[in-house]
Formats: sequence, structure tokens, C-alpha cells
Amino acid sequence: MYFIANWKMFGDLRSLNSLDKVIKFSKSNKINKGRLIYCPPYTLIRSFFKKFENCQIDIGGQNCHESEIFGPYTGSVNCRMLKNIGANYVIIGHSENRKNGENNKLINLKIKNALKAKLKVIFCIGESLNQKKKNNTKLILSKQIKVGLNKIKYKKNIFIAYEPIWAIGTGIIPKPKDLFDTVKFIKSKFKDKSQKVLYGGSVNPQNINELKKINNINGFLIGAASHNSKKFIDIVKKTYN
Ligand code: PEP
Repeated sequence: MYFIANWKMFGDLRSLNSLDKVIKFSKSNKINKGRLIYCPPYTLIRSFFKKFENCQIDIGGQNCHESEIFGPYTGSVNCRMLKNIGANYVIIGHSENRKNGENNKLINLKIKNALKAKLKVIFCIGESLNQKKKNNTKLILSKQIKVGLNKIKYKKNIFIAYEPIWAIGTGIIPKPKDLFDTVKFIKSKFKDKSQKVLYGGSVNPQNINELKKINNINGFLIGAASHNSKKFIDIVKKTYN
């Protein structure tokens, strides 16, 4: 199981101390088969990389620019730059970035360049509340997958993160049966039956007991609860208890 911490725009150098607990946990047998990946803001990637040097925790960026090469794009960072400072993963297509104008075509370009830069991609998809109410979830997800992964044959390094927008930061999670069916639907879009699909949206130490029973999910993308090491560790521990 994969546990991906999305720190969004939170954290500064003082936050590094809070990782000690997680490092200790990652070296214990309590981690079981859990794989931990931290996606801090760009400003902290190098510091996290150094902090995690002697443990098995991976690092990811939270987004990237679509250009493969350096260029005049103020404020942007591309995938090669992420790789160069120690990231192995990158989140692409997060709804908070889609909201700011990222469309499926742009996301496709970003994914292609991330793979070229030898990064693993956490590809976020998900429907809005309105789309869900109109029964358009499958239609939206299909389009996001089709266009987002257009002309990408080798998908082993792509993890799908199903994040319904209405579940992000709201404390609400999908009904277990709905989530199982949606994950099954997403997996049915791939020839490779081992395609990994994670769930994200308000995962916390309380609801993990319910979520872990949904047996086609391969891990979790965790926002708010991952900023607190104790909560993050609790989620991992409870998944295996
Ligand atoms: C996210 O935005 O990727 C996310 C999962 O956030 P939260 O856990 O806070 O809902």
C-alpha cells in the first residue's frame, strides 16, 4: 500500500523536526508493507531529501511545468529540476491546479515529460459535486483518463489517485460501495490489471478503518492529516491492524 503525504502550501524549515517520528516509524516493523512518499512544497524538497537520506521514504513534487527544458517561465519548475534535487514522484492534475486552469491536454503534456524525466506520476482525477449529482462521474473520469494519458503506452510508473473534489478537505468520504465501484471502473480502463489506483479526500485516522476494507484500493493520497506526523503514522498503522 502507498501512503502519499500532500503537504500543499504548508511547511517551513521548522517542520523538518516533525519528520523524526515518521523516520523512526519507517525503520520499524510496524510499517509493515507500507510505502511512504512525501510531497512537500518545492522550497522543502531538498531538505526533505537530505532528512530522508538513510530511510526508505520517497519524495515527490506537487506539480511541474510542462516544458521539458529550461525556459522563461517565471515561478515554474520542470520535472528534470525536480528529479535533480531528489524527487522520484510528482503529483499531476490535482483539482486545486485544474481549478486554476490546468486542462486534460496540458496534464497529458506534463505526464509525458515527467515520465521522460524518470519520475513516477501520481495522476489525480475526480469529479465535482455537480458532476456527481448529474450522474456524470464515469463520463468525467473516462475523459480525464483518455486525454490525460493520450499516447502514453508504458503506464507502469503512473499511479491514479481518485480524488472526488467534493471529498477534498470537507471531512466527507464516498460511501464504501460507491468507492469500490468507482475504483473498479477506473481499473477497467486499463489493460494491465495491476494498475494502481489510490484514493484521496479527507482520509484521517478515524475513517481509515472503513476505507481500508475497500479491497481494490492500492493506497491513499492524504492532505491535511499528513501535516501531522502522528495522524499520518496512525493512518498507516491502522491500515494494517
Ligand atoms: C488532497 O488535496 O490531495 C487531499 C487528499 O486533501 P485532504 O486529505 O485534506 O482532503
